[in-house]
Amino acid sequence: MTAEPRLGIDIGGTKTAVVLVADGSVQAMRSAPSGRGASGVVDVAVRLARQVLDAHAPHARGRGADVSVGACMPGLVDPVSGLARHAVNLDVESLDLAGGLSARLGVPVAVENDVKAAALGAWRLRGSWSAGSASPGVSAAGVGPVSGSTHPGDDAALAYLNLGTGLASAVVRDGVVVRGIDGAAGEIGHLPVGGDAPCTCGQIGCLETVASGSALARLWPVAGRRARDPFAAAAAGDALAAAAVDVVCTGVGLAVQLLALASGAERVVVGGGLAGLGAPLIDGIRADLERRARSSRMIDALGLSDRVELLPADVPVAALGAAWLPAPELPGAPRLASVGSPGGLADVTVPGERVG
Ligand SMILES: [Zn+2]
Repeated sequence: MTAEPRLGIDIGGTKTAVVLVADGSVQAMRSAPSGRGASGVVDVAVRLARQVLDAHAPHARGRGADVSVGACMPGLVDPVSGLARHAVNLDVESLDLAGGLSARLGVPVAVENDVKAAALGAWRLRGSWSAGSASPGVSAAGVGPVSGSTHPGDDAALAYLNLGTGLASAVVRDGVVVRGIDGAAGEIGHLPVGGDAPCTCGQIGCLETVASGSALARLWPVAGRRARDPFAAAAAGDALAAAAVDVVCTGVGLAVQLLALASGAERVVVGGGLAGLGAPLIDGIRADLERRARSSRMIDALGLSDRVELLPADVPVAALGAAWLPAPELPGAPRLASVGSPGGLADVTVPGERVG
C-alpha cells in the first residue's frame, strides 16, 4: 500500500487532470481545460491541485500532512533539471515545471514527460482495468482501488504506445521508465518504415505517418466527417475509411511488434486519443498481428496478439503515473514540505491518514 497521499498532475494538450491517491485508492480527481503558455499551464495545475486536496480534506487544514507530488506534460521534460521544453500544443517553449509548481505548492515536485508517466501508470496498474471490471475504479467516479505495490510480475517490462496526433511510446522495466542517454528511448514514431508521407520531424515515411491520429486524418480527411468513427464508416461502405483503418491498424500492429521485439516487454498497452475508437481498433491491431504470425512460426511463437491490450479511455493513466513518480533528488532540499507552508499542501491532511 502507498503509505502517503500522492498527488498526480497530468497537463495534457487540451485537458489538465489531477488525481489524489492514498491507501491504494484514487481518493479524488479533478480536470479542467489546460492553461496556455508557461504561467497559464502552472496556474491551472495549481488551482486543480488545491481543489483536489480541499475536496478530499475540507476540514483538515492546519493539521499537517505529507503529500508527494508529481506532474507530467508533453514535450521534452527533464526529471533532473525539472525543465519542460517544446510543448507546442500548450504554447510552451521553455518552462521550469518542477520549480514553478514547487514554489506554488510548497513541496518538491517530480516531473516527467506525459507518455513516460503514462507508461509508469500502466505498469503500476498491471492491467487491472481488464481484470473483470471496466476500469480500476478510477473513472468518472474518481474513487476506487488501484493496485498496491507488490504483484507477481513486478520485474516484467511493459511498453506503452500512445496513439495521439502523433505516435509516442515508452518502456518501463522493473518499475523504472527507460530513458536512455537522451530521454528518447522508446520513441519509435520517427523510425522510417517506408511510404512517401512527409513527417513533422523532417523525415519521410516515419512510422507515425501510418500509425497515429494524424495518419488517420490524412488518409481519411475529416472535413465534414468530424466525430465520425472511421470503423463505422468503413462498415457502412466508405471505401476510403476502410483503406485508412487498414493502413493504421497495420501501422499500429507494426509498432506493437517493434516494441515487443526491441524491449522484450511482456505487455504492450495502447492508449491515447485514438484508443477511444475501442474494440474495432484493438480487433484490427490483433488481426494484423495474427496475419503476420500466420506467415512466420517465429512471430507466431511470440503470441503478440495476446500481449497487446487497449487502455480504457476513462483510466487517468498519466496522472496516476505522475503520482507514482519517484521523488525528485534535489540537493539540500527537504523531501517534503514542513508543516504550515503558506498556501502549501502541508496544510492539508487526508482523512484516514495517521498524523505523527
Ligand atoms: Zn518522423
